Amino acid sequence: MGRACTAAASYRPHLRPKDETISIIEDAKRKSIRAGTTIFREHETGDFAYLIETGKVELSADDEGRKVVITIVGAGDLFGEMSVIDNSLRIATAIAIEDTVVIPIGAELFQEKLGKSDPMAYMFLRVLAGRYRWALRRALDNQNLNSAKTMMMGGMDTRYMRVRESAINRLRIEQDLREAVENEQFLLYYQPIVAIDTGVIAGFEALLRWQHPERGIISPDEFIGVAEESDLIIPIGSWVIEKACEDLPRFQDVFDQNFMDQSKLFMSINVSPKQIDKLSKLGRLQAILDIHKTDPTTIKLEITEDILVTSPEAAALALDKIKKTGVELALDDFGTGYSSMSYLHRFPLDVLKIDRTFIDAVNKDEKGLDIVRGIIGLARALRMKVVAEGVENLETLNKIRNLDCDYLQGFFASKPWPLDAMLASLARHCRSRANAMAERKCAS
Ligand code: C2E
Ligand code: CA
Ligand code: CA
Repeated sequence: MGRACTAAASYRPHLRPKDETISIIEDAKRKSIRAGTTIFREHETGDFAYLIETGKVELSADDEGRKVVITIVGAGDLFGEMSVIDNSLRIATAIAIEDTVVIPIGAELFQEKLGKSDPMAYMFLRVLAGRYRWALRRALDNQNLNSAKTMMMGGMDTRYMRVRESAINRLRIEQDLREAVENEQFLLYYQPIVAIDTGVIAGFEALLRWQHPERGIISPDEFIGVAEESDLIIPIGSWVIEKACEDLPRFQDVFDQNFMDQSKLFMSINVSPKQIDKLSKLGRLQAILDIHKTDPTTIKLEITEDILVTSPEAAALALDKIKKTGVELALDDFGTGYSSMSYLHRFPLDVLKIDRTFIDAVNKDEKGLDIVRGIIGLARALRMKVVAEGVENLETLNKIRNLDCDYLQGFFASKPWPLDAMLASLARHCRSRANAMAERKCAS
């Protein structure tokens, strides 16, 4: 994985901390099975269902000493799922008839997912599982192999096929993500945040990327959701904080060569709701700050509105603890979530980031501009700094400039880039800004 891998290598202990490892990770790696291998036998207890990536598997049942082949399943098919639904014994024997690669889905993980689902859906599934076994046994007893085969495949109507495809995709991403955690396939891009009054870079936002071995760089929008649902966000999120803290002094060194007298560059880091609780409890954040000798006032953790609205009491407690480390808190994507202003004063927030949708709207009409003006007024009343997100052109900047906004972030200033490219870009920026300032001083 080149540079990203080398950079990540020293982070192995933090990417997979022992206390935060999810049990299923250890067991649920892709498995290669040779042709002729029996994967499981009828009447055994079953701990895993399997999704076939490549190859073919024969499912058969015993009929008074005679093997009856029920069906042959292939790439994209699931088998062995009955036992993980209701912990019952296997109803068929599974043999790989080609060299086969499967993703095992552990009963523990599956039961956990079922436990979180709608109780009605869970109940229906359990009842259906019982009836299915009975019907399958009957079909086999009556030698009705066609209906046994249809049952094994779970039906083929288009709606089901769509659901099946999306479930399989979801499972693949989760599986790949587990491997990414193990193999350290992540890297950070950095995007500058610029002080509007001076035009000088004031800090950076760290933005996660997944360097997939086959698909290349994958954007966080494609995998953060799955990482959050599967709890993988905990080790991944810790790695992000560590890596950003490690890289920050490199940016600060470049900056300080030109702007010694200005306040230190800051680093903004996105954190998911699930991380907040862990970060506050385990003293993990403090430990990371200590390891990297990071000045906490140069770190801004970006949180989103949902955590403040869904469990405000717990959030207030956790955020207060986090604030005690000295880091700042930024409210990200403001306006896209619940947009309830009533909760803002209850939390120790330092920065408000106005979402791109509002910033885009300043060019549409007066109303768009009024809304942003209103949000900035609100932030000022609460003594929060304000960042305008997603500023893409000069026209937008000129509108925002008159609104007393502190910072801008967006493609107009720079797209996010990997560490080395952004360090080089920062050096160029610092030189040109320092020269411009010196010339202005001479002229006045
Ligand atoms: P975000 O926190 O709102 O980050 C800003 C996103 O807007 C970034 O997308 C950035 O590339 C994009 N962006 C910045 N300026 C502009 C602009 O002028 N125009 C347009 N169209 N887009 C702009 P990215 O890097 O794809 O990240 C997407 C989201 O993924 C982030 O949105 C954040 O919610 C999440 N994310 C990224 N890194 C992490 C992470 O380490 N942890 C967590 N939990 N979430 C992350
Ligand atoms: Ca953000
Ligand atoms: Ca944002």
